[in-house]
Amino acid sequence: MNKVHNYSAGPCILPEEVFQEAANSVLNFNNKNLSLIEMSHRSVDFVEVMDEARELVKEILNVPENYEVLFLQGGASLGFLMTAYNMMRKNKNGGYIVTGAWAKKAAKEAAFMGKSSIIASSEDKNFNYIPKNYEISNNLDYLHFTSNNTIFGTQFKELPKTDLPLVCDMSSDIFSKKIDVAKYDLIYAGAQKNMGPAGTTLYIVKKDVLGASSVPIPTMLDLKTHSAKDSMFNTPPVFAVYTSMLTLRWLKKNGGIKHIEALNNEKAALIYNEIDRNSLFQGTANIVDRSNMNSTFALNNENLKSEFDSALVSANISGLKGHRSVGGYRASMYNALPVESVKVLVELMKEFENKFA
Ligand SMILES: *Cc1c(COP(=O)(O)O)cnc(C)c1O
Repeated sequence: MNKVHNYSAGPCILPEEVFQEAANSVLNFNNKNLSLIEMSHRSVDFVEVMDEARELVKEILNVPENYEVLFLQGGASLGFLMTAYNMMRKNKNGGYIVTGAWAKKAAKEAAFMGKSSIIASSEDKNFNYIPKNYEISNNLDYLHFTSNNTIFGTQFKELPKTDLPLVCDMSSDIFSKKIDVAKYDLIYAGAQKNMGPAGTTLYIVKKDVLGASSVPIPTMLDLKTHSAKDSMFNTPPVFAVYTSMLTLRWLKKNGGIKHIEALNNEKAALIYNEIDRNSLFQGTANIVDRSNMNSTFALNNENLKSEFDSALVSANISGLKGHRSVGGYRASMYNALPVESVKVLVELMKEFENKFA
């Protein structure tokens, strides 16, 4: 098989060795002559997987003692609703910084059990920047933001300045760089952007948050339910948790956050330098707000589109098509994408310029 340079925005590329081990586990898990997906989630073998997955998150992100780590279901999209349920306090009012389609969807959910207040938005410019100067009123229970805007290619470089409890959707940049978990009350992230296959969602929640909501919460949406049962209140998505655990083992073995952050910076510098240098392309996001995970750019001359698209196919570059709401191209450079793949893309853009500029 020819090597594919996989720029998929999600589900994402994972390390080759993770695919191999995950495949083995489906055929014969831990030499039990049983598949991982046909054995009890209460078996010692699986309980160990869940425990190791949660421990690895704590270790890799330096999660303080007063936080719980949970692997749940429903995707980040259910997280929009769950976070609002669990964070509502006396004001029954959540604040939202709307920097993209996902943030907008999150803001919508809070209105189901309280109020949703838009603190700032970059929709006026099709979400191509991160709002900087805005007032945050004090009648809010929490402030929600999306650390990385997967579709539009922008990323928060600093935390919003507020004393409110911070809630963050980190679906597309968790484990890509150092974070200070203590600054947040609640972090959530769908696995399939930077950690594993679709099917599980990671929650990192301050213990104080559990049981402190001012609104009644249905059992399955209450983080306290899941924390009381160590993420095993009901049948967990065993394959998604196992494969995420393998990716976290890989990350730890390869130098953890410090190492991966350096590589991610290197990959981002390579692609953005080329976008800025190359006369045929331009970036679509505000320069200071550019994402290190999803780099969005476009051809200056749309007439060259079919030529560039076929050049991508010839170079085995897959998944570069931009989201329909932005157009152009998007290079998603998650943790498992090798620097080599970015070099191949940059080289291709150079050759393209030599030929068509
Ligand atoms: C993909 C994505 C989501 C949606 O995730 P699902 O798991 O499909 O619900 C939410 N937020 C961000 C930032 C995303 O990138």
